[in-house]
Amino acid sequence: MGPQKGDLLKKELSIFTFRDLLEHFPYRHVDKTKISSIADINPQTEYIQVAGVLLNIEVTGGKGVRRLTAQLKDRTGFLELTWFQGISWVQKTLQAGQSYLVFGKAGFYQNRPQIIHPEMEVLTQEKQEGKNFLEPVYPTTEKLRGRGLGGRQIGKLTQVLLTMIREKDIPENLPGSVLNQLKLIDRFTALRQIHFPPSTAAYEESVKRLKFEELFMAQLRVNLLRTNRHRFSKGVVFDKVGEFFNTFYKNYLPFELTGAQKRVIKEIRADTARGKQMNRLLQGDVGSGKTIVAVLIMLLAADNGYQACLMAPTEILAKQHFATISALLAGLPVSVQLLTGSSKKKVRNKIINELSAGTLKILVGTHAVIEEVVQFNNLGLVIIDEQHRFGVAQRARLWEKAEVPPHILVMTATPIPRTLAMTAYGDLDYSIIDELPPGRQPVTTVHRSESQRGKVMGFLKAEIDKGRQAYIVFPLIEESDKMNYENLMRGYDTVKGYFPEPKYWISMVHGRQTSDQKEINMQRFVTGDTQILVSTTVIEVGVNVPNATLMVIESAEKFGLSQLHQLRGRVGRGADKSYCILLSGSHLGNDARERIRIMSTVSNGFEIAEKDLELRGPGDIEGTRQSGALNFKLANIVQDRSLLELARSMVSLVLENDADLLSADNLQLRKFLHEQKENIVWSKIS
Ligand code: ADP
Ligand code: MG
Repeated sequence: MGPQKGDLLKKELSIFTFRDLLEHFPYRHVDKTKISSIADINPQTEYIQVAGVLLNIEVTGGKGVRRLTAQLKDRTGFLELTWFQGISWVQKTLQAGQSYLVFGKAGFYQNRPQIIHPEMEVLTQEKQEGKNFLEPVYPTTEKLRGRGLGGRQIGKLTQVLLTMIREKDIPENLPGSVLNQLKLIDRFTALRQIHFPPSTAAYEESVKRLKFEELFMAQLRVNLLRTNRHRFSKGVVFDKVGEFFNTFYKNYLPFELTGAQKRVIKEIRADTARGKQMNRLLQGDVGSGKTIVAVLIMLLAADNGYQACLMAPTEILAKQHFATISALLAGLPVSVQLLTGSSKKKVRNKIINELSAGTLKILVGTHAVIEEVVQFNNLGLVIIDEQHRFGVAQRARLWEKAEVPPHILVMTATPIPRTLAMTAYGDLDYSIIDELPPGRQPVTTVHRSESQRGKVMGFLKAEIDKGRQAYIVFPLIEESDKMNYENLMRGYDTVKGYFPEPKYWISMVHGRQTSDQKEINMQRFVTGDTQILVSTTVIEVGVNVPNATLMVIESAEKFGLSQLHQLRGRVGRGADKSYCILLSGSHLGNDARERIRIMSTVSNGFEIAEKDLELRGPGDIEGTRQSGALNFKLANIVQDRSLLELARSMVSLVLENDADLLSADNLQLRKFLHEQKENIVWSKIS
């Protein structure tokens, strides 16, 4: 291939190396023996292959709509072929009077059959007779197609490449025992056959083998990271439960812990006492009570002479955590401070001094601020709340300089289906709070359309008059998003119309406000001075106002499932009956309708996460996106769940018998991992 085409391949498809080309898999195969007649093309026809003589090649149109057209004639009729791009190149390569095999997506133009940007190859005797094989068709781009690198021509390159490759170039990487047990074909054969399969069955075998390999390797990497941390990492030791923890537990704990909270605390205590670094994911549905777990573990750190910090993704959340935690710890001689972007310089300096002196034990703040400015005296524990807002790389910065890294607890309220969590976060240990505090009633969730707004507001009024509070949420405001901003302001005016001062007071919080404005508005709602909080999704995570029992979500069709679930999690936090009302326009797409149906019938966050996965696919699952661990070339987490389970159990089996992969059977595997090492940037979770 010439350098120009080579550059185009790099630019358009990121194919730089032979390996990239080999792993550019076909998305389908066509049975090459089948040559259709032009007369058979009808409006239902999709991709089709025809053969005939090329006639009347001409370029028409001015600069704007220049096109190259030609006619293909077979025994049954004429087909128009059209190019809009790469015209001069196509013109140079095509020859009138020559016979061609033509492939492409059939359509109609002025009632005549047409193919735009067809793939062309000169028809030889051999091709006309045909051999029974499946020809691969590859993903490509318009630009490449216009330069003679259509889906078929890429196949030609791959074919050439495959003649150059020997078995030793693509050694087996899975252990023989695994191959035998699962009856998987070898890697070399699979890679050849996925491109040029002798049969459909062979193709399927190849796909299965390669998908399994992807899933197995991903799982193996995270498992190795985890087991190696267990074996070789250093960690600070929290081996005593001391005065802080015990006094708090005995005298200040505001409620009995749930069984799940107790279990999780036990798991964390065991993990932090061993002298190895803890890296743990704590999952718990919204409202399951993660904060109190965080508090107790921070006290454990203090009991053992270490500092702890709790990082939240937004200023509102950080402030709220600070308020909750300082109230809980008011009776204890443990100092707690808040550090955010809006902390005044004097306060900030004081905090920094106390931290480096070691007198400040617990720091709450926004992650950016903490990472930026702070030197701890002896940081022993980092708790990261609402993890999905954090970039993976950000986390490492805080403790990368420490010789003995602090324990890390990542808390997330966006449930991820367990199988996925085990792959995406397989290098972390895992705890789950799968029980809500007692007395919680499920939030009644209903769908109402715009035309019922008056009724909805009437219902709100009745509840507010009983002393309750309400959230009214509008879709997110981006800094630049003028339309949404106007929607919000209009919405605010409408709400004001229904709830006039001085009987009712309304707070408003959105992304364009300064943090002081947000704070004042939030605070008035928290204290009950305002009955209604009109906001954008800045309140999405974490906010806790138990007296708020009403959640109205405007344009609910614009929100994803996990977002809706998060929002709904803001109510149903006290003992009173809570309601979530999903307002939408009357014309809904199928997906939106399905999301609303799920929200109205399902309350468990893990179940919702499963549905979300089915609806959207793994690429969009909150919290897994940045991990990169679920971006597979072939495997699809939704469709290939059972294969993923299989890969997980095989990985466990292999590591159980041979943790360092030293056996002869695992030698290739070890070599392969070693060669791939540079590809695992995403694993830098700790
Ligand atoms: P999340 O897991 O969503 O962060 P929070 O920690 O904010 O949940 O807790 C939600 C609410 O439940 C808070 O008001 C908290 O005080 C309360 N809570 C937590 N644990 C218990 C418990 N064991 N019994 C009763 N209430 C609890
Ligand atoms: Mg929380």
